[in-house]
Amino acid sequence: MDFDLTDEQQLIRETARDFTDKEIVERSRENARNHHFDLELVRKLAAQGYLGAIVPQEYGGAGLDYVSYGLIVEEIGRGDSAVRTVVSVQTSLVCSAILKWGTEEQKHHYLPKLCSGEWLGCFGLTEPESGSDAASLRTRATRTDSGWVLNGSKMWISMGNHAKVALIFAQTDPELAHRGLACFLVDTDQEGFQPQEIEHKMGLQASDTASIALEDVHVGEGDMLGEIGDGFKVAMSALDSGRYSVAAGCVGICAGCVDESVRYATEREQFGRPIASFQLIQSMIADMVLKADASRLLVWRAGFLKDKGRPNTLETSIAKLHATEAAQECANTAIQIHGGAGYVDDHPVERYFRDVRVTTLYEGTSQIQKLIIGRAKTGINAFVPA
Ligand SMILES: Cc1cc2nc3c(=O)[nH]c(=O)nc-3n(C[C@H](O)[C@H](O)[C@H](O)COP(=O)(O)OP(=O)(O)OC[C@H]3O[C@@H](n4cnc5c(N)ncnc54)[C@H](O)[C@@H]3O)c2cc1C
Repeated sequence: MDFDLTDEQQLIRETARDFTDKEIVERSRENARNHHFDLELVRKLAAQGYLGAIVPQEYGGAGLDYVSYGLIVEEIGRGDSAVRTVVSVQTSLVCSAILKWGTEEQKHHYLPKLCSGEWLGCFGLTEPESGSDAASLRTRATRTDSGWVLNGSKMWISMGNHAKVALIFAQTDPELAHRGLACFLVDTDQEGFQPQEIEHKMGLQASDTASIALEDVHVGEGDMLGEIGDGFKVAMSALDSGRYSVAAGCVGICAGCVDESVRYATEREQFGRPIASFQLIQSMIADMVLKADASRLLVWRAGFLKDKGRPNTLETSIAKLHATEAAQECANTAIQIHGGAGYVDDHPVERYFRDVRVTTLYEGTSQIQKLIIGRAKTGINAFVPA
């Protein structure tokens, strides 16, 4: 076993750390306060090669391995989960799906524009009546002479208001259940594609989240990703990458909580000494360090398996479950260490606390990750009670 990063991976990590500190951290508080989806920052992410890190260079990506991608996402996640969401959605949910399931023509058409940031993409799986039970989605795809027409609605779609291309999952034949599902590459520049911003979120204020009405949305004959019946597999394979990305981002939150808490605890004095000298404070810091390290190792294991091309759905779910729950606990603990000062946005821990809450919900809730882990270990599918 070798826990050392290569020289290249270390350089990638340091570069991502510098970029995060110089470009992201500076803007986070104002962007969150103003609910500002920062397109200028998106362009900077693209220029760094962070919107298609795992996409091969022949399609315009950076051609990096998954461990390197995880290192980048960890740093960006430490800076701002709203920005990390852009990277995760664009790279993992959209690019990885096109890379795995697309024809050569589709890959050459979409990937360079997505990697360069010229286009943003979104991933339209969830619907008002279909969340954890994704296969029950109701958006309907009907054949036409020239392709397909889509009708239905999507809910909670990150970047839905800004995307130029949307991966829309739809049912081609309700009688076929999940075998009728298909994934379509939808041009959002048409009247029937109607996104609407979801307001009043608890966190991720600087992230764009949309509900989308689909009214007679046209899709060309060649704009299906995979075949009819592949829809569910396309979604699950994209989520294998997306969950890894969320987990890596949460390692960043854990690490950020440690950094901020150590900084604050060594500066803040009570009872005539720095609060860092109190054992109860050190106990909280030790708990966070433990959670950060354990989460990072689980992410690295999942990344290692991805890079080897070995099965990793189980290990990715374990990393996602552990890192997201750990990041929530760290954010809570970090506020405790900051006392009243942690309750306002002068310190990043306040934003960590609000932003982290969604990570145990999206890309499969913690309960869904446990069902995946339980199924893998017992061989029994407990998604639906017997
Ligand atoms: C900010 C944000 C961004 C998002 N971005 C996207 C996106 O870009 N694209 C996209 O497609 N979706 C996106 N989502 C949707 C997200 O993936 C769903 O919210 C998530 O899958 C859960 O679905 P749900 O909200 O319908 O909850 P439900 O499925 O209704 O779950 C409610 C509760 O029931 C539990 N539950 C459900 N089924 C079971 C079971 N079999 N056994 C035990 N417990 C169960 C769940 O764990 C949860 O606790 C986003 C959500 C948010 C909040």
